[in-house]
Amino acid sequence: MVVFPERIKARIFLFIKLSSYIEYIIKLITAARVEPVPLYWCTELNLPVLDARKIASKCDVFTEVKLTQPADPRPAFSADIEITRGAVINEFGDVKLAERLIPRDEVVLLNKIPGYADQADEVVVRGRTVGHRFYDVVKRRWRFRPLYEGVATMLQERLGFWAVVDMSELPERYDIHPDRILEGELPREKFRHVALATKDGRIHGVAKLFRGGRLHVIKSWRAKTPLPPGRPSTFSEVAELNREHIEELASEAVKFIREVAEKYKKPIVVSYSGGKDSLVALDLVARSGLEFYVYFNDTGLEPPETYKNLEAIREKYGVEVIVGAAGDRFWRAMKLFGPPARDYRWCCKVIKLGPTTEVLKAKFPQGYISVVGQRGAESFLRARLPKVSQSKWVAGSVVAAPLQEWTALEVWLYIYLHKLPYNPAYERGFDRLGCVVCPANELAELDLVKRSYPDVYEKMETALRYRFSEKEVEMGLWRWRGRIPGDMARWVKREKGAELPVRLRVDGGEVRVEMDAEPDPATLRHLLKMLGTVEGEYVVRGKRSVVKLERRGSGWAISAGDGKTALDAAGLLVRSAICGDCDLCVHWCPTGALKRTGPGRRFEVDENKCIGCLLCSAACPAAQYLVYRNEG
Ligand code: SF4
Ligand code: SF4
Repeated sequence: MVVFPERIKARIFLFIKLSSYIEYIIKLITAARVEPVPLYWCTELNLPVLDARKIASKCDVFTEVKLTQPADPRPAFSADIEITRGAVINEFGDVKLAERLIPRDEVVLLNKIPGYADQADEVVVRGRTVGHRFYDVVKRRWRFRPLYEGVATMLQERLGFWAVVDMSELPERYDIHPDRILEGELPREKFRHVALATKDGRIHGVAKLFRGGRLHVIKSWRAKTPLPPGRPSTFSEVAELNREHIEELASEAVKFIREVAEKYKKPIVVSYSGGKDSLVALDLVARSGLEFYVYFNDTGLEPPETYKNLEAIREKYGVEVIVGAAGDRFWRAMKLFGPPARDYRWCCKVIKLGPTTEVLKAKFPQGYISVVGQRGAESFLRARLPKVSQSKWVAGSVVAAPLQEWTALEVWLYIYLHKLPYNPAYERGFDRLGCVVCPANELAELDLVKRSYPDVYEKMETALRYRFSEKEVEMGLWRWRGRIPGDMARWVKREKGAELPVRLRVDGGEVRVEMDAEPDPATLRHLLKMLGTVEGEYVVRGKRSVVKLERRGSGWAISAGDGKTALDAAGLLVRSAICGDCDLCVHWCPTGALKRTGPGRRFEVDENKCIGCLLCSAACPAAQYLVYRNEG
């Protein structure tokens, strides 16, 4: 047997690690997009149909449901129905219209859509899109934009705000003068929606009331017919009607799980989050008959219902749940990093990846198969993720996503069919669960968190107020560090990067760093060994150049032969000052050269083992977000 010296072994390991990372990126770019699943509606039964061929004997008339991509319809729970009815009443002040468009005793679907400043959903009733419900970020309430069959119903039954105009077309973005309104019921308040029809009734549209009584046309289309009559229906009926389709999907998923287990021959660990998707993934693994473990990562920001749900899971499946706990790391790290943002997600590393890697690496040192509830329909990005991939974080581990092609509706129908113990937090009106305060949340969700879990919301708000103005906190502007997208951009004009705890200026081979925290000198000297031989206090002789770190004014000046090395040194400087205790650097080090010597930012580097790969900085949220991606 050939015995390799330690350093060679480390380089081989590093090569394998980098290759799997590159393979992952290539798969991400080339993976085929998940094809949208067509959805139908059975008119007689008033139920959605997932595969029309399978239920042809039970239903005579179907309509195809047209959904906006990435189509991921989900059931409207009773809290959603009340929110949506409230949205109609807020917009039109007409209870009868809310009753007509959003029935309480029928199956209603919601489908998330882009194009609004905050959360917005297409609302499907009796297989028809009656309108969009959307959260108004200024008025902080749900509103409703009627469309298609919703508009036709309003016009025919003279409900809500409507107008018939003396025109034969309704060009979009056109302002209709009040003189051209033949009849109608108009709002008093500006910007309310109005259902529109041309005088021959051939074209319908939706407009907003503007100054001077003008109607600004937002969208128009060839007139649809009003909502057909319905009948009471439930999601249990939907599940029963689509049983064959759901069971077929489940059998394929179980087969997939068995194939992955057979191929990789490693222990199976279901990553359970308390959400619906991981619940179904867990049930499918249990159905496979294979031995498995359940892992739950307690971020410290879970809704209380998740802990209760975890008990139900233990009871139902009779499994030991391995728990990784972040404790109060989020709150401690926030003092150093500042609040997380969509483009500054240090928290995912600190409270998710850190504890997960630590616990599972110790329990399964040879790697494992992580079964996750990831679904392609959740977003365009997830649609491109492969169904099986190498774990980026634990060498030798594999991530398997048996639900990659499932829609939220299919997941829910499986839950109904098998009466799985789903998390009751969904019944509050949340559409996805996870950390209760998350920068990925929409304002609608944050306002729901505020009402549902006031204690944790208040704690977050207090922490946010240290760095943001009242207005920025109120408008949720802390959720972005860089460019604020869409309509939200109008609400902010602020200095970028000023709130980050590290300010960086790159000037050729020199980098200037200002930090809110002080480095730990011993740790800094150790970390600098990654760049070469430490000669003076903070002077390193590297392979290509000499790197020098010196205090200048209130900050640091770092010089090196080239900008990249200076930036690497800045990463090490920041790591010695700001650390979220996630230990990803230690887990990611391929040679075991890096050791933690104490809590906080205390580390030692063994220069005999360190190969200078800087994978530890690549894994570190402080180095990544405060140095490499800090555009300030
Ligand atoms: S300490 Fe950092 S630079 Fe050194 S071998 Fe480990 S990961 Fe690479
Ligand atoms: S230095 Fe290590 S423990 Fe600290 S934040 Fe970076 S990766 Fe996490």
